[in-house]
Amino acid sequence: MMQSVDYIIHADYVLPMDERLTVIKDGAIAVKGTQILEVGTSEGIFRKYASRAIISGRENVVFPGLINTHTHAAMVYFRGIADDLPLREWLENHVWPAENRWLSPGFISDAVELACLEMLKGGVTTYNDMYFYEDAAAEATKKVGMRAVLGAGILDFPTKSASTADEYFANAESFIKDWKGDNLITPCIAPHALYTCGPETLKRARHVADTYDVPIHIHLSETRWEVEEIRKRYSMMPVEYLDSLGFLDERVLAAHCVWLTDPEIKILAQKGVGVSHCIESNLKLSSGIAPVVSMLKAGVKVTFGTDGAASNNDLNILSEMSTAAKLHKAYSEDPTALDAKTALLMATRWGAEVLGLGRATGSIEEGRAADLVMANLNKPHLTPMYNIYSHIVYSMRPSDVEMVMVDGRVVVNDGKLTTADESEILYKAKEWCKKISTSPFFPQGPY
Ligand SMILES: [Zn+2]
Repeated sequence: MMQSVDYIIHADYVLPMDERLTVIKDGAIAVKGTQILEVGTSEGIFRKYASRAIISGRENVVFPGLINTHTHAAMVYFRGIADDLPLREWLENHVWPAENRWLSPGFISDAVELACLEMLKGGVTTYNDMYFYEDAAAEATKKVGMRAVLGAGILDFPTKSASTADEYFANAESFIKDWKGDNLITPCIAPHALYTCGPETLKRARHVADTYDVPIHIHLSETRWEVEEIRKRYSMMPVEYLDSLGFLDERVLAAHCVWLTDPEIKILAQKGVGVSHCIESNLKLSSGIAPVVSMLKAGVKVTFGTDGAASNNDLNILSEMSTAAKLHKAYSEDPTALDAKTALLMATRWGAEVLGLGRATGSIEEGRAADLVMANLNKPHLTPMYNIYSHIVYSMRPSDVEMVMVDGRVVVNDGKLTTADESEILYKAKEWCKKISTSPFFPQGPY
């Protein structure tokens, strides 16, 4: 007796990114409701399952949805606003003033739709965010049908979203209570960084994370300046300082981790801290190059983040994989470093694991949510085909993505978003850009 399912997805190559890193040629996936029921050869799947919705294509590959483990999604509206500047000047003289002028729930909601559109069309199905008004971000993300871990930003100084520590924490706690248990949105707490949050704030954030059993998202050792500043203030290296506060464990996702000593790498490995490597942002802001090869050797789970679009300037995990894999070969003078298989693992299964979503997503396996990408291999830059991992990491572009499924729902079909009107999302972005670019608020403006 054939079992009826909602979708059967059939492709020339299926990369489940399971423990054994299986490659299934002529593979298929049975999806029922939000979940993957079974993955295997198409012969086996079609013998067992029937569906009215068969998604199929010649010369296609299906792999798990990519995971962007560090971004500030709404910053897509500041894409290109202030380029070619060092991080502190960029942040203090350009980004923070622009945020103080423009951020509101309406801004966040419109901007996040654009960010989700860009990410989904590039095969990203989950993102880890740190920003403000995350309620608005959650609504927009859910509407578009993407998965996200959303971190309510905490700082020791006032911003538009809150003026005191108590207010930041009250906002964060009510956001966590409102969204905990949602099928797509995981709320989290996001103390910004060690130089913007004092020890009491960090301990309090840790306590909130423990109380509500949610992840923690923080920037760590992004610039040389920051490390010097923390050493001056606390006479310890940043990772040692966080460890002394009892802050570090598997719950923590640390973005950047550029300036680390070997003993700090050891602590990150021992405590199971996840790292988001944001190579394109680090290169653009000239922050430095993270010791990714040493971290991987020490057993640290390193994953990929784009950071905000104002410092990248896109949200493209395919290109983060390619840039990182090439750059770390040159940087370590070892062409075998960060091979294509490892890069895809970092962008999929490990990404899910460091966000605490290892059982929900990150691989195409029985019982996982159906979060997957189908890409067209019949392209000049993907021809001929010898090694599927190599093609995805070194040659694939967002425009090759044809179908994206999140939680069993087709959100991109034929390269187009199905859940909202793409032209309306772009139109709203252009209207905001007009307002922002003609405003006299900014001393260095108009941009
Ligand atoms: Zn960041």
